[in-house]
Amino acid sequence: MLSRRTGFLLLALSVGALSAAPDHDASRVSAGDFTVAATERGFVILYRGETVCLGSYVNGFRPGYKGTLVSSGEGWKTGTVSRSEEGRTITLQAAFPEGTLTYSAMVSEAGVRVTARVSLAEGAAVGPVEYAAFQLPPSLTERATVEVVNAAGMVTDSLPVPSVGKRGAMAGSGEALVFKTPAMNLTVSSASPLGLYPFDARVAQYGTQQGLWAFGSIPLTPGRESASVVELQVAPPDPTPVVGTITLAPGVRATAVATVADPTARERLAADEIAAYLKRITGKELTRTEVAGEVVLEGVIAVGTLATDAGLIAPDELKKVRPDGYVVRAAAGRVAVCGWRDLGTVYGAYALLQHLGVRFYAPGCEVVPTVRDLTLEPFELAAKPAYELRVVTGDLKLGHTPSADLGNPREIGEAGNVVHSAEYLAPYEKYGETHPEYFALQKDGQRLHHRPNETRFDVHLCLSNPEVRALSAERLLALIEKQKDRTFFGVSQGDGFAWCECKACKALDAVPGVDMTDRLLDYVNVVAREVAVKYPDKRILTLAYTNATSPPPTKVLPEANVRVQYCPYPRRTNCQSHDFTCEQNQQGFADLTGWIAKCPDNLYIFDYSRGYKIWYEPFGSFYAMKRKLDLYAAHGIRGLYYCGVPTNFRDLFVFVQSKLQWAPKADAEALIDEFMAAYYGKAAAPVRAYFDFLHRQVEERHVHQMCEGANPGLVSAEYADTALELFAKAEAAAAGDRPSLYRVRAEKFCVLYADLNERNPVQANLAVGKDTFARRLAEFLQLGRTMRIGSLGRRDDGPVSDWLYKVARIRTQTNPWYADPLVDRLLDDPAGTLAAEEQLGAQTKTAGGWLVLLDGFRGCLGPQEYSNDCPPRRAVWIYGKNTKTPAMWAQLHLDSAPTRQARLVLTAQDDDKPGAVELFVTLNGREVFRGPNPFKERGWSTTEFPLPAGVLRQGENEIRFATLADSVAPDAGWFMMAECKVLFE
Ligand SMILES: [Zn+2]
Ligand SMILES: [Zn+2]
Repeated sequence: MLSRRTGFLLLALSVGALSAAPDHDASRVSAGDFTVAATERGFVILYRGETVCLGSYVNGFRPGYKGTLVSSGEGWKTGTVSRSEEGRTITLQAAFPEGTLTYSAMVSEAGVRVTARVSLAEGAAVGPVEYAAFQLPPSLTERATVEVVNAAGMVTDSLPVPSVGKRGAMAGSGEALVFKTPAMNLTVSSASPLGLYPFDARVAQYGTQQGLWAFGSIPLTPGRESASVVELQVAPPDPTPVVGTITLAPGVRATAVATVADPTARERLAADEIAAYLKRITGKELTRTEVAGEVVLEGVIAVGTLATDAGLIAPDELKKVRPDGYVVRAAAGRVAVCGWRDLGTVYGAYALLQHLGVRFYAPGCEVVPTVRDLTLEPFELAAKPAYELRVVTGDLKLGHTPSADLGNPREIGEAGNVVHSAEYLAPYEKYGETHPEYFALQKDGQRLHHRPNETRFDVHLCLSNPEVRALSAERLLALIEKQKDRTFFGVSQGDGFAWCECKACKALDAVPGVDMTDRLLDYVNVVAREVAVKYPDKRILTLAYTNATSPPPTKVLPEANVRVQYCPYPRRTNCQSHDFTCEQNQQGFADLTGWIAKCPDNLYIFDYSRGYKIWYEPFGSFYAMKRKLDLYAAHGIRGLYYCGVPTNFRDLFVFVQSKLQWAPKADAEALIDEFMAAYYGKAAAPVRAYFDFLHRQVEERHVHQMCEGANPGLVSAEYADTALELFAKAEAAAAGDRPSLYRVRAEKFCVLYADLNERNPVQANLAVGKDTFARRLAEFLQLGRTMRIGSLGRRDDGPVSDWLYKVARIRTQTNPWYADPLVDRLLDDPAGTLAAEEQLGAQTKTAGGWLVLLDGFRGCLGPQEYSNDCPPRRAVWIYGKNTKTPAMWAQLHLDSAPTRQARLVLTAQDDDKPGAVELFVTLNGREVFRGPNPFKERGWSTTEFPLPAGVLRQGENEIRFATLADSVAPDAGWFMMAECKVLFE
């Protein structure tokens, strides 16, 4: 944060050198090839005499654009412009009724750094904030490409600038934008928590400022200062690639990538991808053509049905790779790529590229070799995936099933999805009132209905009702009709447990109202038979899920076109970090074995490999999933649906699982090594060591992690120490390699999260010194800011600001949290800032002495509002000696030892059970009170305790409360306090 201080210093120095505004000729600074001029249009930048930036502006509006709070346009007219003494920085200072703007540009040989600082008055109402950081002239960006780069230095978007301007955002935001023009590469990067995106402003409404803008929004907070720093740098243009050649053996020059006329979207994608990657490999751009006839000329790469039409691939060959496989053949000066269906053609295109040395590891991590003169010798590839359903992330390069192969009612404007489809098959909104009997009879004797304040509503049907069956079949057929090119359609109940209690439904069950698999299959089969008549190739997905339908069927077996997705889900499969051999998964294993015995050909798996409650806890399911996959493959199971993938080692998990889905016997260890080398570069070895350590710990310490609920316990203090040591090695090894470093730190972030979450000063269970805690917290915040982490978990477990309060009693006020100045202060001086915040939250002056704030108490439960049988008050509380929270304590800081007699004044209550909880109160270790506490039950009362003379001293003073007996029940034996004061006479 040195640069920030330097910035302030420069400002202070320049105050004496203020020039009379607006003398724009004096408002000009230069260095190297750059000149910056401050004008009423903002900062105009010249590079070697050519205008590369037309101007810039910052506007903070009131809500609904009703007036401005700060505006650089106004500022240039009314503010003061100054030039620093050394002639490198030019600064506008402008004051507005509700805020100030300091807007400066610093020029150096390397480029131009622009800083905008906005301070708003307390209570100012903030609306939209517009920041056009740099406005590039249209002439410069003709035939240019814009790349969006994320914090890892990876290009997340790359698009050609269209020849005609169209107002609006051109892409998502990132850490940097690179405008690659024929004359130069301009990089705009953000050194502050500000996402930038390219905005096309090449339309008349922007007058003289028409161009491409690097655009963003500075988060402004009333009563605070917000700062944003962006830089513009110029580099020479990318070298024009050397155009090589592509030869199709024997000695034919490749000319085109062709499809039939009017190809499907997937065939077009396959052909485009082949052409694009071949260009990246060789620099040679092949023509993309559509061929009407059945003749494929020499030199042509034929993609999709063109390959079969021309006789390059025989239909019989494709039957062998049904349904998702492909055949690729290079022979006689031609290449042919075709799948049994067009999805296989896409996979075939990627297989061809992999044959040429391209490697697809993860989005943003690919290896593309460059070869000047490429020759494709004759070869032949044919493969199909071992699993016919592979729902992971939808990445076609990794061979996943695309979501567009799954029937989706939402895409035709209806409710429901492929997993829980009852709300589509018999919509409650449509039939709830007219046909309540379509819906499940509940235990209270009523049919399923909306209850007030219900946050979710899961549709459960009366599956035995013939009308429900007919309606479901009719509606599913209607969906298939609209999504004919898709394969998989869902027929299943809503989530939850609201199964029908009617006699007819229960009569279908193996154990009435308990084991309901037969009932579900009986219903699903009716629908499936109807579908089979018209659409024999469609697959009907249903669920063996929860206690309701996890047990294998006893009377009804699924129809041939039905695929039952067995869900190894809690409570029957409680552990997701171990495979089925874990003692917590015995019921699930018995279920699965039963299903395999009854109907192996109808069985898919719907599996869980991550935590859904807390997202960043390290989750060690990698080898569990590998072993489960071995088991599934050994039993011929043919479909896998992953309900999400782990956050840690996500891309690795996806890569290896994907490979195993196509080839279950592939060497997973070799795949891990190959992936790590590509993904972590020089840090691969220490990252692998951490990966192995994580999974060894899961095995050796029998760490059972489950998908639902939090999973503390894996990251012990020793675990954190070992892991952080390995990360230090990995970071050193990856130095200078930005993507690898980012990926290493994304893993480190998870370990830091769990370490800070499980051991912190609030829980008073630190295993490291306070300084180390502060340092780790600062690093966590730094990484979270770089990664733009908004949420750490589901719903209430999510907001980072709440979590910071939970582990460190600090509160950020700004949204997003990482734009809060407190975060800057913490990064600057972790231990000092934490101590200062702690003291701020620990005590405050009150009449006659000090109020010791509840936030300052450690070891207790709360602070939280309590209102049972009493007026609501925020309070902290402790339980008996036999619990985890038998004591609480707080520090009172005194600048000097008091000379007068002091007393402790408490507002508290005893637990709501008979008798008074025995309490021991001390100050700096000296007894203040011991015995049954004198406070009321079911209400608040205030009592004073005199403090022994001389017990209070200068500096820190510890006030401590402890129970003296055990809690006899989980809800008994507590002492609760709403207010704690130290008063002097
Ligand atoms: Zn029923
Ligand atoms: Zn386990």
